[in-house]
Amino acid sequence: MNRDYHEILNVSTNATDEEIKKAYRKLALKYHPDRNPGDQEAEERFKEINQAYEILSDPAKRARYEQFGTIDDAGTLFDFGFRGNVDNIFNDLFNDFFGGQRQREKKGDDLRYDLEIEFEEAVFGVEKEIEIPKEERCSTCNGSRIEPGHQPVMCKACSGRGQVRHSHGFFTINRTCEYCHGDGYIIKDPCKTCKGRGFIKTKKKLKVKIPPGVDTGARLKLRREGMLGYGDTSPGDLYIVLNVKEHHVFEREGDDIAVYIDVNFPLLCLGGEIDVPTVEGDKKVIIPPGTQSGKVFRIKGFGVTKSNGHGRGDEIVYLNMVVPTSLTERQKILMEELAKEFNKDIGVTQKGLKGKFKEFFEWKE
Ligand SMILES: [Zn+2]
Ligand SMILES: [Zn+2]
Repeated sequence: MNRDYHEILNVSTNATDEEIKKAYRKLALKYHPDRNPGDQEAEERFKEINQAYEILSDPAKRARYEQFGTIDDAGTLFDFGFRGNVDNIFNDLFNDFFGGQRQREKKGDDLRYDLEIEFEEAVFGVEKEIEIPKEERCSTCNGSRIEPGHQPVMCKACSGRGQVRHSHGFFTINRTCEYCHGDGYIIKDPCKTCKGRGFIKTKKKLKVKIPPGVDTGARLKLRREGMLGYGDTSPGDLYIVLNVKEHHVFEREGDDIAVYIDVNFPLLCLGGEIDVPTVEGDKKVIIPPGTQSGKVFRIKGFGVTKSNGHGRGDEIVYLNMVVPTSLTERQKILMEELAKEFNKDIGVTQKGLKGKFKEFFEWKE
């Protein structure tokens, strides 16, 4: 479930600053750790409330958050270490459990999910359903890892301390007990349902709202949708890394969309109307008479939603004059007629056009 900041503070999306402040004070007072000593859930709630208030009380952050829905920091880079693909994360986690190097981490592992979306979906935004691996606390043993009706046995090696003292001359070193891995007890009857893991691997479907204007490499963070931590710690986060598929016509240029249109010489000479594909269907563009090859047109507002959420980029239309490689008989006759007319105009062109020539042919006799 995505945590919505408005929901956390119990305010509407159009709440005033004053209403947000009031709601925050009320909730923060209720869930303050001083008033709820030892209550893990209250502590978690208190953290959430503070986080929500931090975003919603800041006009800039709030605007950005409301633009991007329940997903925060869309499109920005995070500094976190991925642990490879999803399967690797699973394996890592279980190896940690059985490899004897178990660490009590503060938080469960983060998950990475690579999601491929269509070009148009990146332009307009989309809601996608994805399936992610999920861990659920085992309901048979309630996460204790012990078969119901059995008791853990105190570890004799460390007398239940979880640590063993080693003396080396004058030094005494405390080491994690290798028999119980620091637990202080041994489970002789592991829970059969979860095979002593305390949780069960399942899958979970999740709806993800992708904001308009994202591009390949954008990362969306979904809080607490990662793996469970050890014991009662909070779950990790889920990071969705986007890959936008190539389009057969359109090309991204930041917030703009580029499209290349082949035109012929007569059209550029005489001018006319052409149909240009846009992400919202074909659009008529008027080519004025005497348009040069390589001319660029802009269709305002037909690009991608800007990353700041305000307005859209443009579609950029590049005109590419195509010289036919074969002609019909009639075209040939007309061309020859035309060539005679043009012959007198051919000469040395003006300087400064070098940049327009992209390719050179090597002439060999
Ligand atoms: Zn179990
Ligand atoms: Zn021990």
